[in-house]
Amino acid sequence: METLILEFLNTDWIIRCQGKEDPLYNEAWLNRYFKKVIGSDIESSETLSIQMTNLRTIFINSIEALVNEELNLDVLIKELNKYFAVAPGVRIITSNEGKYDIGFKTDQVTDDFILAELCFLMHQLLFESEKERIRICENPDCKYIFFDNSRNKSKRHCYEGCANIMKVRRFREKNATK
Ligand SMILES: [Zn+2]
Repeated sequence: METLILEFLNTDWIIRCQGKEDPLYNEAWLNRYFKKVIGSDIESSETLSIQMTNLRTIFINSIEALVNEELNLDVLIKELNKYFAVAPGVRIITSNEGKYDIGFKTDQVTDDFILAELCFLMHQLLFESEKERIRICENPDCKYIFFDNSRNKSKRHCYEGCANIMKVRRFREKNATK
């Protein structure tokens, strides 16, 4: 469930760490992504990309605050509600292989609808998953956002490589101060 919103958030990581263009401005990426989110292509535009970029910033700042235990949920909820308030659509229950889910459906996939869908994914991450498992990789050059599925909730890095980099860095720092 978390994967889709994490994919959206980590487009920022793709720019920073892979040096690629912003996926939120890439039509092929957007269509691939929204096929998974709403089941169809979208009408991309620069305005929409700019709005999505703003949303990504709000979300990443919120995740950073959450991880630092400084998140003001009321402020974020107010922000999400602003997007929900202007989005078209009706609430509908869908079934998928015996699993029932509630979502929104619309005949008009407008920018507002798309942005509200992203807010819905963010809401799921914060309120329907174990949000204490949300992590930002502690390698400051990485900061990949991930969900810690480990049993004792002790994962601090997105993958072994980052854990090793940090181990080496701590070792060097320790020796430098000696
Ligand atoms: Zn990492």
